Amino acid sequence: MTHPARYWHREGERIVCTACPRLCTMSEGQHGFCYVRKHEDGRLVSLAYGKPNAVAVDPIEKKPLWHFLPGTTILSMGTAGCNLGCRFCQNWDLSKAKSHHKRALELAPEDVPALARREGAASVAFTYNDPTIYPEYVIDAARAARAAGVAAVGVTAGYISDAARADMYPELDALNIDLKGFSERFYHKLTFSHLQPVLETIEWSVKRGLWVELTTLVIPGHNDDPEELRAQFRWIAEHVGPDVPLHLTAFHPDYKLQDVERTPPETLIRARDEARGFGLRFVYTGNIWDRVGSVTACPSCDLPLIERRWHAVAANRVKADGTCPGCARQIPGVFDARSQSTSGGRRYHLL
Ligand code: SF4
Repeated sequence: MTHPARYWHREGERIVCTACPRLCTMSEGQHGFCYVRKHEDGRLVSLAYGKPNAVAVDPIEKKPLWHFLPGTTILSMGTAGCNLGCRFCQNWDLSKAKSHHKRALELAPEDVPALARREGAASVAFTYNDPTIYPEYVIDAARAARAAGVAAVGVTAGYISDAARADMYPELDALNIDLKGFSERFYHKLTFSHLQPVLETIEWSVKRGLWVELTTLVIPGHNDDPEELRAQFRWIAEHVGPDVPLHLTAFHPDYKLQDVERTPPETLIRARDEARGFGLRFVYTGNIWDRVGSVTACPSCDLPLIERRWHAVAANRVKADGTCPGCARQIPGVFDARSQSTSGGRRYHLL
């Protein structure tokens, strides 16, 4: 069963998908680059609507979202396919798969909040691959979730068209957006996409008032040039401000980059300190053991507010109104009575 897709127009006998800047042109029977959108019977259809191929319950810290309902769990789902072609993809078994080759959970949008509730999740995430390729489902499922008091989150590369973004993002409460590097050369050669649309998405989302955190997977020899990283930190400080958290995470050899070494912890720690030098207040490290890079400290009184051990929360002292208990400064993010003071960081699969 397919579902009618939005974001397309005809050019003669062919259809152009406008969900992302790739603008795939498809003759009858052809799929787009992401392989979940298809020209079928003279219209564009989605093969992914209501059929996630991966479903799990994660700690929200794993997304990573570290200033959004800390310590809670999140119902996470993704489909096969992707609109990027990252040669370092760490989820390539999903992103490079065809949906009809994978098992799927039949999950109508209106059933999403009940599943989240059953699993004790405070929110639902569209993650693992990129929700850009199935905006119709994200919009309907996020609406159903939020109507039932379950928050909705997107984890994305931000490579999306203006039209799809304008419809989909306001249905979400928070986003983690990958800023995969800071050169067009890197984006073009290693992700088969472009940098500028991603920067536009980041600025648009922050200005729109969405809660946004950024992630950069630091890959030795590809996007770890200190000058390039400094340019990235400067851009973040100047364009979206010092309160947007930045997660610098370690690469491990995967997919087409098997011959590249793991990111040395020193690289991330040095980058973390440099980013803080540009005024960024919340810079974290991921996939390494780094106590300093795992703690949220109050920017005013330096009180350690949230301490983490990998994806578990060891202590969360932020008050339910989002303020520091030491000096009453408002901490950027989304904190309320659902936030937990500790959590186990446990993950389990439903599919
Ligand atoms: S969403 Fe998929 S089909 Fe549409 S333009 Fe992007 S890659 Fe192509």
